[in-house]
Amino acid sequence: MSEGSRRTVIMAREVGFCFGVKRAINLTRQALAERNNVFILGDLVHNKRVTDELEEKGLRKIEDYGNEKSGTMIIRAHGLPKVRLQEAKNRGVDVVDATCPIVLRAQEAAQMLERDGYQVVIIGDSNHAEIKGILGALENPALVIDSIEELHEAKKSYRLLRKVGVIFQTTHALELCNSIVNEMLMMCKEIRIINTICRPVQNRQDDALELAGKVDLMIVVGSRTSANTVELAALCRYHNPNTIQVQNADELELRDLDGFRVIGIASGLSTPEDLVEAVRVKVVTSELEPAAAS
Ligand code: SF4
Repeated sequence: MSEGSRRTVIMAREVGFCFGVKRAINLTRQALAERNNVFILGDLVHNKRVTDELEEKGLRKIEDYGNEKSGTMIIRAHGLPKVRLQEAKNRGVDVVDATCPIVLRAQEAAQMLERDGYQVVIIGDSNHAEIKGILGALENPALVIDSIEELHEAKKSYRLLRKVGVIFQTTHALELCNSIVNEMLMMCKEIRIINTICRPVQNRQDDALELAGKVDLMIVVGSRTSANTVELAALCRYHNPNTIQVQNADELELRDLDGFRVIGIASGLSTPEDLVEAVRVKVVTSELEPAAAS
């Protein structure tokens, strides 16, 4: 292949697991090496290859720990409501807590706002495990909203109070949070905001958006069940409509690259680095069709 027929690939500055996911995987591997009967509620990370590897080593995935009276339960990086944690301990289950320190800080921020008399408002997805963990850390119900429409709905139904303390889902995009908070300014008398967005997430988003604006095609690598990957791809698409998301190199069709010379590659936080590398190699070794090469 001649130099002129190669594509140029620009990688995002950071790809692969974030430190919270790496830590959770390492703690789980360690527990599996040292203990028997290790189980987890749901998936440790939204990546099938990693979950398959851990299951081969003996990790049991359960939907409900109601019947577990012994063994070791892994708490995922997203955390778990403290009542559920206590229930498990009361039944004699050991716990390996892999809750990410940044998620713990978000829980503490919500608790502090509650203690200081604010109505806690969480900008995030109410179905996400992290948000359930934060809600479970509080004494009173909090308001969870994820769009301007939901905010107006809460205002109309008198669920939004005048003195609110706001935190954000750690993996949420700052742009979305900003737009909701701006709208809130017109509805509330006092707003205290604690920025709980995870710095590594924000850095990756900023970096990927900058890259998306510079390349012909942007590829985001990661699972379609990973909220942060899906959100990253949506953000990139907003800045560059030629954005695709693939779970691995096999999913990348060479025809997806047709007509594009400069390709950017970024990844979600739960995507193993070697999957990203395989995508990079596939793109680099693909041949440019004559029209794009000329
Ligand atoms: S994305 Fe941030 S908050 Fe979530 S696990 Fe990774 S480092 Fe922790």
